[in-house]
Amino acid sequence: MPDTPSPAVLISEVGPRDGLQSVKAVMPTADKFKWIDALYAAGLREIEVASFVPARLLPQMADAADVVRHALTLPGLTVLALVPNLRGAQAALAAGVHKLTIPVSASAAHSLANVRKTREEMIAEVRNIVALRNEVAPSVPVEAGIATAFGCTLQGEVREDDVVWLATQVIEAGAEESGLSDTTGMANPAQVRRLFNKVRAAIGERTGAAHMHNTRGLGLANCLAAWDVGVRAFDASLAGLGGCPFAPGASGNVVTEDLVFMFEAMGVRTGIDLEQLIAARAPLMAGLPGEPVYGMTPQAGLPKGFVQGAAHV
Ligand code: ZN
Repeated sequence: MPDTPSPAVLISEVGPRDGLQSVKAVMPTADKFKWIDALYAAGLREIEVASFVPARLLPQMADAADVVRHALTLPGLTVLALVPNLRGAQAALAAGVHKLTIPVSASAAHSLANVRKTREEMIAEVRNIVALRNEVAPSVPVEAGIATAFGCTLQGEVREDDVVWLATQVIEAGAEESGLSDTTGMANPAQVRRLFNKVRAAIGERTGAAHMHNTRGLGLANCLAAWDVGVRAFDASLAGLGGCPFAPGASGNVVTEDLVFMFEAMGVRTGIDLEQLIAARAPLMAGLPGEPVYGMTPQAGLPKGFVQGAAHV
């Protein structure tokens, strides 16, 4: 391998999970394979490929185990799955995932609505999942992402003390890392800086990724704010797939193409080839005909003479 330094940031693609579970249409399994292959070809090395939930709740994820099995054939890819409970964790570990992510809501109202459990019950569930992991797959890290960390559509404001408390609790329960998710697209950059600083003061290097949504157009600004205070892992979704049922026309997750462009233009290496990343939109659109896609960089194209900081392998 030539003298390619390792990336300065980890971009974790969540489209096949967060994106697909937010759209009504069901992408055929074969199209998911092509899409994941294209993301991998562009240089993404962590992809959240599925959510292990009952198919009657999310038919988009009925093929989760097949998608995991396919993703496992791509060398060097960290195959991540979301699991809301112990049963999901059992299925995900049986399928062979490399990493688990568990959503834990800082909003008491959102926790009950989303997983029908109190926050305390979810902390206990994290402990149960960690115990299972220790038994059957001790090398698989568990991430507990704090959902609704920056506000909640149901209860409104979420106290920062609640977020710090919950992040501390899930680490005590055995999770390896805890990141912050702006599930509802309510965060602003000042809040992002303040809350990540508070969480890092509490759990140090176990502070995980920034998971930002672009509902109000602040996705990139919030990622940059997180970068400013030392966050080096970011979730994003190709073409901003996801949308928001409560805000017509608004995109969902921060757009991977725009996030990669921002970092590369700043000279921050992502390990991702922008042209190949933009090309990965084709299999996504083929698998979800008619679904709106977002992203400013793919629309405008790369600036004349733009050279990425890296040769890609
Ligand atoms: Zn999300």
